[in-house]
Amino acid sequence: MDVCRLCGQAASGAGAEAGKLCAACAASFRDELARRARVIEDCRALLLRDATFPTRLAHCDLLLDNARLLLPYEDKGLETLEPPPSDLLRRYEVQRERIVMEAVTAYTELASLRAEHADSIEAKVDTLVTGLRRLDGLARELADPSQVAPFEQTLMILAHEAHLDDLVLRKVGESGPS
Ligand SMILES: [Zn+2]
Repeated sequence: MDVCRLCGQAASGAGAEAGKLCAACAASFRDELARRARVIEDCRALLLRDATFPTRLAHCDLLLDNARLLLPYEDKGLETLEPPPSDLLRRYEVQRERIVMEAVTAYTELASLRAEHADSIEAKVDTLVTGLRRLDGLARELADPSQVAPFEQTLMILAHEAHLDDLVLRKVGESGPS
Protein backbone atom coordinates (compact mmCIF):
# COMPACT_ATOMS: atom_id res chain seq x y z
CA MET A 1 0.00 0.00 0.00
CA ASP A 2 1.25 3.51 -0.82
CA VAL A 3 1.91 5.78 2.15
CA CYS A 4 1.55 9.56 2.23
CA ARG A 5 4.95 11.20 1.72
CA LEU A 6 4.10 13.96 4.20
CA CYS A 7 2.43 12.18 7.14
CA GLY A 8 2.96 8.46 6.56
CA GLN A 9 -0.76 7.55 6.59
CA ALA A 10 -2.36 5.57 3.78
CA ALA A 11 -2.07 7.53 0.56
CA SER A 12 -4.99 8.10 -1.73
CA GLY A 13 -5.00 11.41 -3.56
CA ALA A 14 -5.97 12.04 -7.11
CA GLY A 15 -4.32 13.61 -10.16
CA ALA A 16 -0.69 14.60 -9.77
CA GLU A 17 -0.54 13.40 -6.14
CA ALA A 18 -2.15 9.96 -6.75
CA GLY A 19 -0.45 7.43 -4.51
CA LYS A 20 1.86 10.08 -3.02
CA LEU A 21 -0.34 11.86 -0.47
CA CYS A 22 -3.34 11.18 1.78
CA ALA A 23 -6.50 13.18 1.10
CA ALA A 24 -5.87 15.66 3.97
CA CYS A 25 -2.23 16.35 2.99
CA ALA A 26 -3.18 16.58 -0.70
CA ALA A 27 -5.73 19.31 0.10
CA SER A 28 -3.40 21.36 2.32
CA PHE A 29 -0.49 20.88 -0.10
CA ARG A 30 -2.60 22.18 -3.01
CA ASP A 31 -3.67 25.22 -0.94
CA GLU A 32 -0.15 26.07 0.11
CA LEU A 33 1.22 25.52 -3.39
CA ALA A 34 -1.43 27.80 -4.93
CA ARG A 35 -0.75 30.50 -2.33
CA ARG A 36 3.03 30.43 -2.70
CA ALA A 37 2.84 30.15 -6.49
CA ARG A 38 0.76 33.34 -6.57
CA VAL A 39 3.23 35.22 -4.34
CA ILE A 40 6.17 34.00 -6.44
CA GLU A 41 4.41 35.04 -9.66
CA ASP A 42 3.66 38.53 -8.29
CA CYS A 43 7.27 38.94 -7.18
CA ARG A 44 8.61 37.81 -10.56
CA ALA A 45 6.32 40.31 -12.30
CA LEU A 46 7.45 43.15 -10.03
CA LEU A 47 11.11 42.29 -10.55
CA LEU A 48 10.63 42.77 -14.29
CA ARG A 49 9.36 46.28 -13.71
CA ASP A 50 11.31 49.38 -12.84
CA ALA A 51 11.08 49.60 -9.04
CA THR A 52 13.24 51.17 -6.33
CA PHE A 53 16.10 49.22 -4.79
CA PRO A 54 14.36 48.44 -1.43
CA THR A 55 11.21 47.28 -3.26
CA ARG A 56 13.17 45.05 -5.61
CA LEU A 57 15.25 43.58 -2.79
CA ALA A 58 12.18 42.95 -0.60
CA HIS A 59 10.33 41.19 -3.43
CA CYS A 60 13.35 39.12 -4.35
CA ASP A 61 13.61 38.03 -0.69
CA LEU A 62 9.89 37.24 -0.54
CA LEU A 63 10.23 35.11 -3.67
CA LEU A 64 13.26 33.29 -2.25
CA ASP A 65 11.47 32.64 1.08
CA ASN A 66 8.45 31.13 -0.70
CA ALA A 67 10.57 29.03 -3.05
CA ARG A 68 12.60 27.79 -0.04
CA LEU A 69 9.39 26.73 1.76
CA LEU A 70 8.33 24.66 -1.27
CA LEU A 71 11.69 22.92 -1.50
CA PRO A 72 10.80 20.07 0.92
CA TYR A 73 7.85 19.13 -1.34
CA GLU A 74 10.08 19.06 -4.40
CA ASP A 75 12.55 16.90 -2.44
CA LYS A 76 9.72 14.45 -1.71
CA GLY A 77 9.04 14.08 -5.42
CA LEU A 78 5.81 16.09 -5.51
CA GLU A 79 4.96 18.26 -8.49
CA THR A 80 5.36 21.88 -7.41
CA LEU A 81 6.27 24.64 -9.84
CA GLU A 82 7.72 25.02 -13.28
CA PRO A 83 10.58 25.97 -13.02
CA PRO A 84 10.91 23.98 -9.75
CA PRO A 85 11.75 25.71 -6.43
CA SER A 86 15.41 24.57 -6.49
CA ASP A 87 15.79 26.20 -9.88
CA LEU A 88 14.08 29.42 -8.71
CA LEU A 89 16.40 29.56 -5.69
CA ARG A 90 19.50 29.29 -7.87
CA ARG A 91 18.21 31.86 -10.35
CA TYR A 92 16.99 34.44 -7.86
CA GLU A 93 19.97 34.17 -5.52
CA VAL A 94 22.02 35.31 -8.54
CA GLN A 95 19.49 38.04 -9.27
CA ARG A 96 19.59 39.20 -5.63
CA GLU A 97 23.36 39.72 -5.85
CA ARG A 98 22.80 41.64 -9.08
CA ILE A 99 20.16 43.90 -7.48
CA VAL A 100 22.49 44.72 -4.57
CA MET A 101 25.43 45.36 -6.91
CA GLU A 102 23.29 47.75 -8.97
CA ALA A 103 22.69 49.73 -5.78
CA VAL A 104 26.43 49.61 -4.97
CA THR A 105 27.20 51.11 -8.39
CA ALA A 106 24.46 53.74 -8.08
CA TYR A 107 25.48 54.86 -4.56
CA THR A 108 29.17 55.03 -5.55
CA GLU A 109 28.32 57.22 -8.56
CA LEU A 110 26.03 59.39 -6.47
CA ALA A 111 28.61 59.88 -3.68
CA SER A 112 31.36 60.67 -6.24
CA LEU A 113 29.15 63.20 -8.01
CA ARG A 114 28.05 64.88 -4.79
CA ALA A 115 31.64 64.99 -3.54
CA GLU A 116 32.77 66.56 -6.80
CA HIS A 117 30.27 69.38 -6.37
CA ALA A 118 30.62 69.82 -2.59
CA ASP A 119 31.45 73.41 -1.58
CA SER A 120 33.97 72.57 1.16
CA ILE A 121 36.52 69.90 1.99
CA GLU A 122 34.43 68.92 5.05
CA ALA A 123 31.26 68.53 2.98
CA LYS A 124 33.20 66.51 0.41
CA VAL A 125 34.64 64.12 3.02
CA ASP A 126 31.25 63.81 4.82
CA THR A 127 29.60 62.85 1.52
CA LEU A 128 32.24 60.21 0.84
CA VAL A 129 31.97 58.82 4.40
CA THR A 130 28.17 58.56 4.02
CA GLY A 131 28.74 56.73 0.72
CA LEU A 132 31.22 54.36 2.37
CA ARG A 133 28.75 53.58 5.20
CA ARG A 134 26.07 52.76 2.61
CA LEU A 135 28.45 50.47 0.75
CA ASP A 136 29.32 48.74 4.03
CA GLY A 137 25.61 48.10 4.65
CA LEU A 138 25.13 46.75 1.13
CA ALA A 139 28.19 44.50 1.40
CA ARG A 140 26.46 42.75 4.32
CA GLU A 141 23.59 41.85 1.96
CA LEU A 142 25.88 39.97 -0.39
CA ALA A 143 26.91 36.32 -0.44
CA ASP A 144 30.27 37.63 -1.70
CA PRO A 145 30.94 40.98 0.06
CA SER A 146 34.38 41.28 -1.60
CA GLN A 147 32.60 42.50 -4.77
CA VAL A 148 32.14 45.87 -3.03
CA ALA A 149 35.88 46.42 -2.36
CA PRO A 150 36.71 48.19 -5.67
CA PHE A 151 33.79 50.61 -5.12
CA GLU A 152 34.92 51.37 -1.56
CA GLN A 153 38.38 51.98 -2.93
CA THR A 154 37.04 54.53 -5.42
CA LEU A 155 35.46 56.56 -2.59
CA MET A 156 38.51 56.14 -0.32
CA ILE A 157 40.80 57.50 -3.06
CA LEU A 158 38.51 60.53 -3.52
CA ALA A 159 38.57 61.16 0.25
CA HIS A 160 42.38 60.92 0.35
CA GLU A 161 42.68 63.26 -2.62
CA ALA A 162 40.40 65.78 -0.93
CA HIS A 163 42.58 65.70 2.20
CA LEU A 164 45.76 66.05 0.16
CA ASP A 165 44.36 68.99 -1.82
CA ASP A 166 43.39 70.62 1.45
CA LEU A 167 46.85 70.05 2.91
CA VAL A 168 48.64 71.46 -0.12
CA LEU A 169 46.35 74.52 -0.27
CA ARG A 170 46.97 75.19 3.44
CA LYS A 171 50.75 74.90 3.05
CA VAL A 172 50.68 77.22 0.06
CA GLY A 173 48.55 79.67 2.07
CA GLU A 174 50.94 79.48 5.08
CA SER A 175 54.06 80.14 3.04
CA GLY A 176 52.42 83.18 1.45
CA PRO A 177 53.63 84.90 -1.68
CA SER A 178 57.36 84.60 -2.26
ZN1 LIG B 1 -0.78 12.79 4.70
